[in-house]
Amino acid sequence: MKLETLSIHTGNHGEPATGAVVPPIILSTTFERAEDGNFVEGRDIYARASNPNRRMLEEKLAALEGGTDAIAFSSGQAATMSIFHALGTNSHVILPDDIYYGTRYMIESLYAHWGMTCTPVDMTDISQIRKAIKKNTKLIWIESPSNPSLKVTDIEAVVKLAQSKNILTGCDNTWATPYFTKPFDFGVDIIMHSTTKYFGGHSDILSGCIIVNESLPQDLKAKIRNFQTTGGVIPSPFDCWLLFRSLATFAVRMPVHAQNAMKLATFLESCPQIEKVNYPGLKANEYHKVAKKQMKNGFGGMMSVLVKGGQESALKLTSELKLVKHATSLGGVETLIEHRKSAEGAHSVSPDNLLRISVGIENIEDLIEDFRQALDRL
Ligand SMILES: *Cc1c(COP(=O)(O)O)cnc(C)c1O
Repeated sequence: MKLETLSIHTGNHGEPATGAVVPPIILSTTFERAEDGNFVEGRDIYARASNPNRRMLEEKLAALEGGTDAIAFSSGQAATMSIFHALGTNSHVILPDDIYYGTRYMIESLYAHWGMTCTPVDMTDISQIRKAIKKNTKLIWIESPSNPSLKVTDIEAVVKLAQSKNILTGCDNTWATPYFTKPFDFGVDIIMHSTTKYFGGHSDILSGCIIVNESLPQDLKAKIRNFQTTGGVIPSPFDCWLLFRSLATFAVRMPVHAQNAMKLATFLESCPQIEKVNYPGLKANEYHKVAKKQMKNGFGGMMSVLVKGGQESALKLTSELKLVKHATSLGGVETLIEHRKSAEGAHSVSPDNLLRISVGIENIEDLIEDFRQALDRL
């Protein structure tokens, strides 16, 4: 079955007792045994270990990426943490230099005392990755397109290098989503999502997941699952239910995000107040070629722009926008814009005139009109 069908039907096995077409939310933390004292096959035991809503969700998440299993977490960060835990002490990880800030900060602030280290490199340059490989390198972490400069990494090329050195590859596929890029097709071992973003799609669920396929060693998969169940970093039954429901419209939301982003990027590219538009769908973009090879159905809903006139003009633009809100996060139905430098704080490497845009699914003419009137006031 295709993505559109999988996103609606996978994991929904019906409710024979009531005939409900939509699954109920099971809030119970504990589940009854059989009369003979045995556990009932297929029935959960205790909600930290598993819950019906979570199992349904995990089945759907695995199907969307074409994986063998999915493990749902209380946040994208908890999902990432499960991998670092599984790698163990004194591991070295290679990261993109403009990775989602929280991933790198996690290694440096939570895992340093475990002897874990990381080397940030420009992942679009394979020779930099090769040079960064050490004896204890356990994982190469890919994020494509990257945050906030929208660099596109050639996933296939990174996997080829990693496999030749017996190193695992993981991919944060939050931005591209399987609608545009399927990392398992290129041989990665682990996929991570902040399902808070496009999978949730409405800016009202904080959650994450890991999706695995056969290439991931069983002991590592077991460690990731154990981190979820023994650590208890799980999404609530309501969050699982809500995410399961949100995923039903995933495949109709994504093309609109991408079509709107393409039109907005083209418009902004033509505006004299804008110095540069970072969007891999634009022909002039330095990553357009690799994006065309690796992305299908479009180029996603994320972009960033550099505004002429520095930070002051950038912030003025955010305040002149009426429809588009200035807020962090991404992947929701509403368009958001964000000044990344002030969001990331002192250590930020984002240019001070950079604004990141998560393009929503409003009518594109309304979005362009909002940007037009705001740019006119700069
Ligand atoms: C938001 C985000 C995360 C972190 O996810 P949370 O759900 O906020 O914990 C990780 N990676 C990327 C690319 C993100 O956008």
